[in-house]
Amino acid sequence: MVDLTAEKRQELWHALTVLQKETLLAHKKYRLQSLFLTENFLEDKAWQFADFKEDPFYPKGENKLYCRCGRQVKYQFILVSTETGELMPLGSTHFAQHLGVPELVAHQVRSGLHQIDRGLDLILQQVAVGLHFPEKLYREAQVRQLLPKLPAEVAERLQAFAVADLPIYQEDQQVLFEVLKQANKGRQESRSWQPQRVGRKQTQTKDNPLEELIRHLRHVELGERIEVAAFADYLGESQRTLRRWLGLLMGGRFAVQVRQVGDDYYRIK
Ligand SMILES: [Zn+2]
Repeated sequence: MVDLTAEKRQELWHALTVLQKETLLAHKKYRLQSLFLTENFLEDKAWQFADFKEDPFYPKGENKLYCRCGRQVKYQFILVSTETGELMPLGSTHFAQHLGVPELVAHQVRSGLHQIDRGLDLILQQVAVGLHFPEKLYREAQVRQLLPKLPAEVAERLQAFAVADLPIYQEDQQVLFEVLKQANKGRQESRSWQPQRVGRKQTQTKDNPLEELIRHLRHVELGERIEVAAFADYLGESQRTLRRWLGLLMGGRFAVQVRQVGDDYYRIK
């Protein structure tokens, strides 16, 4: 997937509802905070992550952000001294020098930040093509009382995204799938989101794998991401072939229609 240009990102961002913007920002902040905790870069605990600011119009914005060395920055991390309460604004590219943390750790934080941004870009693109929160998938987990099995952070995020009707982070969808998959172990009935081998019918239907694919895609919720690897595995085809077929289904001539966002495909009809 190609990163969005700053202009495109702004355009998509403005198309969101106020609640959607608030939700995404709050969770971006939250993810950053846990990134800092995971990387444990503030080892001495003298400084804690306090806040995060972003100048979407960098470098030409009216409200410019600065690192404490005076350099203008796009991202500003604000740390707070646990002893004095002093606030320290730092740019993401050279907080390592200012705090004396190893460059490797700084690099991990930067790539984590990049990953969070890409996840956000993907959500923006999904909203732009009319995708929504995966209601059905979430409800299934809810009805079967599986939500408590999710990591607290993911469960909270899903709840908030449901209220704002936002497509979810890929990582969260993966976690949700995994919990459902675990719960289905030992259960016989097939799940809509997970193609299952059907035994004797298999040889007949596999004669026309595209037809088989379409048949299974009918059980995928509108707006839900299509598990390319799982379908390819089930149909005994390469992922490359499966992507070619999904490409055909983007045209609108079939009863089922999909749309591509980045490397992923979603059912839209
Ligand atoms: Zn600096």
